[in-house]
Amino acid sequence: MTTNGISIPAERVRAARAVGDALRPGSRVALTTHVNADGDGVGSEVALWHLLAARGIKAAIANPTPIPDRFGFLLPDGADRSDRAGKEIAAADVVVVLDISDIGRLGDLGRAMKNSHVTVCIDHHVSKGTLPDGPRLVAPEAAATAELVFDCASALGWELPPAAARALYVGILTDTGAFRFANTTPRVLRVAGALLERGVDPEEIYEAVYASAPEGRVRLMTEVLRTLVVEPEVGLAWVTVPPDALARHGATPDDLDGIVEYPRSIAGVRLALLFRQIANGRIKVSFRSLGAVDVAELAHRFGGGGHKKAAGASLEGSMAEVQEQVLAAARAYLGGER
Ligand code: AMP
Ligand code: MN
Ligand code: MN
Repeated sequence: MTTNGISIPAERVRAARAVGDALRPGSRVALTTHVNADGDGVGSEVALWHLLAARGIKAAIANPTPIPDRFGFLLPDGADRSDRAGKEIAAADVVVVLDISDIGRLGDLGRAMKNSHVTVCIDHHVSKGTLPDGPRLVAPEAAATAELVFDCASALGWELPPAAARALYVGILTDTGAFRFANTTPRVLRVAGALLERGVDPEEIYEAVYASAPEGRVRLMTEVLRTLVVEPEVGLAWVTVPPDALARHGATPDDLDGIVEYPRSIAGVRLALLFRQIANGRIKVSFRSLGAVDVAELAHRFGGGGHKKAAGASLEGSMAEVQEQVLAAARAYLGGER
């Protein structure tokens, strides 16, 4: 099937129809995504909110953690009910889970997921999927979940309101690192082109997403970058968020987004890491790679996951313990690669 000059693989069309069948007028719909939502999670939710609203379906965004301020400009009034997410999920007939396939990534909200409502999943992660059964539009080869939401609307013949196009553009822009990462395919550029044709203003979006930083974000970045360690002989580099740095700069986890690109940008580095304490005795590790290094595989060993060149995991232990364990595995992996 081809719409807007973009062909949609048959299995995506089939999956989109199953998703469309689940989203009927009159049903109460909750939209959710992973903890610490990113541009793809929020963009996909907001786009679907508009697509459903245009069909007379009322939806509520119900996320496990607050939506970062950076993406507040996308939110329609009253759409975000994340402050009462558990109740929204419990009351929903249909829950659409975006940008994850694993229930564990829903944090505390996982408990509200049950079999009495229909669970729809739209996602582009490599995962065996641990959500309750339901219609699934899952394609790891998609650059962003937003690309799949676009396909879903196209396959179903749902008109894309300009506000939905804008939200999808944010999802694609952020997940491709502003069209720089390996997931920047000819196809996703065609989709981005179709979104511009729907009236998206790329400069306005750039300004909102990347050039409206609170001062604290930049000050936090300088502190994190000062912790840089490089091991050129193995091609490894990492940074560590100092304890309490977020609180001191009035920052949120979203403000750390992109910092790991700096260790990755060093010549010869093939694997970059960012370590952050997320709770007492719990450390989040972000993995980024270049070339053949598969960080999804590496993160998976520590109970995490993600994509080949961008993955994450959350480990139990002190910062020193987790660093020792993860750095040893990273060195061994890079040693074996050569
Ligand atoms: P991040 O390092 O948080 O920017 O995440 C990079 C990629 O890894 C994203 O695609 C995430 O969905 C995935 N990811 C991050 N943390 C985890 C985790 N704890 N478990 C599974 N996947 C994760
Ligand atoms: Mn995401
Ligand atoms: Mn994504």
